[in-house]
Amino acid sequence: MAVQRSQYADVNAVVGGYLRDLAFSQSSQPKTFGYKRAAAAILALDAPLTDLVGPDGALPRISGIGPGSTRVINEILDTGGSPTVELAIEQSGRRQDIERRRGLRQHFLSRAEVRRVLSDPAFAGPTLGQYRGDLQMHSEWSDGYPTLQEIADACLQRGYHYAAVTDHSYGLKIAGGMSMDEAGRQRRAVSDVNVRLGNRFRLLQGIEANIDATGQLDLDEDEAATFDLVLAAPHSRLRKTDDQTDRLLAAIAHPAVRILAHPRGRITGSRAGVVASWDAVFASAAQRGVAVEIDGDPARQDLDHTLAARALGAGCVFALDSDAHTTAQLSYAETAVAHARLAGIPADRIVNCWPLERLLAWLSNPSAETRP
Ligand SMILES: [Zn+2]
Repeated sequence: MAVQRSQYADVNAVVGGYLRDLAFSQSSQPKTFGYKRAAAAILALDAPLTDLVGPDGALPRISGIGPGSTRVINEILDTGGSPTVELAIEQSGRRQDIERRRGLRQHFLSRAEVRRVLSDPAFAGPTLGQYRGDLQMHSEWSDGYPTLQEIADACLQRGYHYAAVTDHSYGLKIAGGMSMDEAGRQRRAVSDVNVRLGNRFRLLQGIEANIDATGQLDLDEDEAATFDLVLAAPHSRLRKTDDQTDRLLAAIAHPAVRILAHPRGRITGSRAGVVASWDAVFASAAQRGVAVEIDGDPARQDLDHTLAARALGAGCVFALDSDAHTTAQLSYAETAVAHARLAGIPADRIVNCWPLERLLAWLSNPSAETRP
C-alpha cells in the first residue's frame, strides 16, 4: 500500500528527516556519514519518492541509498512513520538531541518540492524566467571554488544578465576572507571578465561583510565604498537564545549595506540562528531600502517563506540568492525563488528581477526603492 501524495506536502523532506535521525542514532562514524549521505541524496531528488514507486510498489535504485535506507523509505511510504528509526533512537540514548534537531527542520523544502512550487502556476510570486541575476556567491578568492570567469560563464548559461561575486571580507578568517589588497586585485579581475563579455553580461564585485557581536561590520566606510555591493551577514552567536534585534538594526543602519544576507544564520537540524524581533528588523530594512535575503542554500533556506511573508507585509525589498560555492550550486537560487513564490512576493519587490539599470540605481540610492 503506497502513501497518497496528499498525505505529505513534501514526502522527500519527511524521509530525509528520518534518515538524518537515523544518522544521529549511530555510534559508528561511517554509518553516521552513510545515513547523512542517504538523507542528502533523497533531499536532492528531482521527483517525490511517491512518484518514483513502480506499479509493483518497488522503488528504483537510487544512487547513495543502501538497503538500510531503502527499508526506512518503504516503512514511511507504507505507514507514514518508521519503526526502525524510532527503535534506533530509543537504543541510542540520544532522543533528547534528536528531538532538538527535529525541531530545527521547520519550513525546509526538498529539491522535489522546490520544483513542484516552481512549476505550479497557482503561486503569485516570481517565475524563474523573471530572475535576472544572483547576488550572493563565493569564488576562489575566498571559500568558493570557481574562478570569476567560470562564474560568469555559468551565469550566462543560466540566462542571467548580471551577478555579484560576494567573497567574504577579511574579518571572517575561517572562510578565507579577502584582505583589501586582495580585493583590489579581484576588482581588476572582475573588470577583465566584464571587458571579455562586453554588454552580454555584467559581473559586480560584491563583498559579504561579517556582522560582529555588536552589529559593526568588518569593513570601514571607505573600504565598503570600493565595492559595487555590500552584503552584511551574521556568522557568530547563532546558537544563543538572547535577543539580538539591536545587533541586526545596527548592521542595517550601516550606510553601505544593501542586503541583509541569511538574516538568521540557521542551519537545518543543527541551529536555530539569531533570535530577534523580526518585525522590527523588517520595518527598519524597509525604511532604508535594505533588501532582506532569501538564501537558497538547501541547508539554510533563510529567510523561509513564513518570515519572508512577514517581511513583505513590512514593505521590504528582497534579494533571492544561491550562496553558491561551486558553479553547480548556482541552482540553489531556485530554492530561494520557490520560497518567494510560497510567500507571494511580487517580482517588482525582488531586486534580482530588476533590469540592471534599476539594480544599479538602487545600489547607489536604496531610499529610491522605499515606499512612502
Ligand atoms: Zn555567510
